[in-house]
Amino acid sequence: MVNDRQIRLLPDQIINKIAAGEVVDRPASVVKELMENALDAGATSIEVAVVDGGVKLIAITDDGAGMDRDNALMAIERHATSKIRHVDDIERVETLGFRGEALAAIASVSRFTLTTRTADSLTGTSIRINGGRMEDVSEAGCPPGTRMEVRQLFFNVPARRKFLRTAATELNHIRQVFLLYAMGRPDIALRLVVDEKEIYRLDGDSQLEDRIRQLFGAGVMDDLRLVDWTDGQWGIRGLASGPNLTRADRSEQYLFINGRPASAPVLGYAINEAYSALLPRGRYPVLMLFLDLPPEEVDVNVHPTKKEVRFRRSGQVRDALLAALRQATLASQSQNFDEQNKKVSAAKVTGEFLAVPDLPALPAFAYPRNPGTGEQRGADALDRYHAAVAAGTGNEAEPAKTPESDWRQSPWQWCRILGQIAGYFVVLETDEGMIMLDPQSAHERVLYDRMMQAIATRKIKPQGLLTPETVNLPPAKAGYIRKHLKTLGELGFGLSEFGGETFIVDALPGLLGEVSAAEILDDLATDLEDAGKSVSSETVLRQHIAQVATRVAVRTTKKLSREELEKLISDLAMTELPYTSPRGRPTIIFTSLQELKKKFGRG
Ligand code: ADP
Ligand code: MG
Repeated sequence: MVNDRQIRLLPDQIINKIAAGEVVDRPASVVKELMENALDAGATSIEVAVVDGGVKLIAITDDGAGMDRDNALMAIERHATSKIRHVDDIERVETLGFRGEALAAIASVSRFTLTTRTADSLTGTSIRINGGRMEDVSEAGCPPGTRMEVRQLFFNVPARRKFLRTAATELNHIRQVFLLYAMGRPDIALRLVVDEKEIYRLDGDSQLEDRIRQLFGAGVMDDLRLVDWTDGQWGIRGLASGPNLTRADRSEQYLFINGRPASAPVLGYAINEAYSALLPRGRYPVLMLFLDLPPEEVDVNVHPTKKEVRFRRSGQVRDALLAALRQATLASQSQNFDEQNKKVSAAKVTGEFLAVPDLPALPAFAYPRNPGTGEQRGADALDRYHAAVAAGTGNEAEPAKTPESDWRQSPWQWCRILGQIAGYFVVLETDEGMIMLDPQSAHERVLYDRMMQAIATRKIKPQGLLTPETVNLPPAKAGYIRKHLKTLGELGFGLSEFGGETFIVDALPGLLGEVSAAEILDDLATDLEDAGKSVSSETVLRQHIAQVATRVAVRTTKKLSREELEKLISDLAMTELPYTSPRGRPTIIFTSLQELKKKFGRG
């Protein structure tokens, strides 16, 4: 090392390597910079291919404007950019890049090839750079557009290489970057190829809604509300989840500021505030939000990777975001409940409630149906009861009982639905009095019992998913899932490791219905973490899995038809523990006729 204290200007090659430390810290940041360049070049189609978590190869091919030979040579110089010219331009950047650092930095820490051609030239140019040293410039036959290949990233920066995680983890980060731009630009066709396998192929010319469906499955859209707010100058649009789609952390909140994936602390606060009354503690909404402000309102030049921005007027930004989210989530509440009772429901009920919208039509229904003799034993009982009441025989509290058969174990012989309270709690009349029922807890009990029974009799049937779901978990959570892969497999989860913290789910236990694998795995990992050592045996583990899976499935169910509600009540009656949910919450509150009589002073 030189230590004669003489001050020297550093050679470019070293400067670039130092800069590389800021701009490219892992393969995913190379993918980010190169995807941004392709988008800035006006590409309509981009392919991202990586090998070995991007460490061996990252190749990005676009059909954008391309470069002629001179420009291609300039592009790899530090501070070479076509995107700004004057100081003032920094105040109003509309491209994703502008610092002119990325290509120089990437080329200095990898074996880099750039092949490019403009549409109006017959041949293209290929440039090969090895650890910042130019090795070859030649003519090349290639289609219009640009292909950048980055091989052996950090081969000459051992310190960096040491910080790389497993290929699977790096791949996860790459996938996140890819998803981000895929959401940001539904108009662009995108492909992600990992180790020569195509992971995503997304059509161009799409709307955000289509893209979200393609990426996350159709079901997700049901729980996302349109955000569409403007005050004439500023605009906030996108999608925001209501109370039925939540996550245990913020990892699925995607924010774009003037088309650039970025965030700022003030946005996080505003989101918290908007959802504070809507979601239980520790649950976070899923968001894809696009904020569009005049460029001079935003300072993007705060950080080399431009991930964080600063707002000139952050108070106004907060108010705007709050207004936009309130508008969207208020709409989501009323959409969840009966159209006719919209006002009542929206005013009284918030949180994760299961609505039963078409209730007010209330013919008495015989209950429960006896599978043994005749059509409806319950109906007879009901008739006899009414007859008894009408005849004033005085034993109305005890309608005819039939001694035999299993349905007699149910807490009531017959019942009918009287209505709803707050558009939610269901009021029932039974042979012995009045019942108030929480449909959600009841549903949890029924589904849980069914799942435990299927487990006990080894009749769990996996239901294949049309499009396998890729689930990405934080490392600690992934660990809990990985540990129990075998048991999950036995319980009908078609789960395979995609590497690192990513799992591919291609089947779920059939009786759960349509439910998000991501939510189940996330909740399950959290549950297992909380449960810790108390998960002492395979049986207890299974109970945990069944409980979480059914809880999520029920949370996903938003509406029951009246017939489904009747079926739910009759199924609940057949469970072994109809009075509480697997979480220990009451499913029904019963007030006997005796009690009612007493209260009315007639007892
Ligand atoms: P910046 O994007 O900040 O301008 P880069 O180092 O990423 O800096 O790129 C330098 C220049 O190279 C860009 O300004 C652009 O003119 C050109 N360039 C980079 N990638 C592409 C591409 N995929 N297609 C066409 N031109 C490109
Ligand atoms: Mg760039």
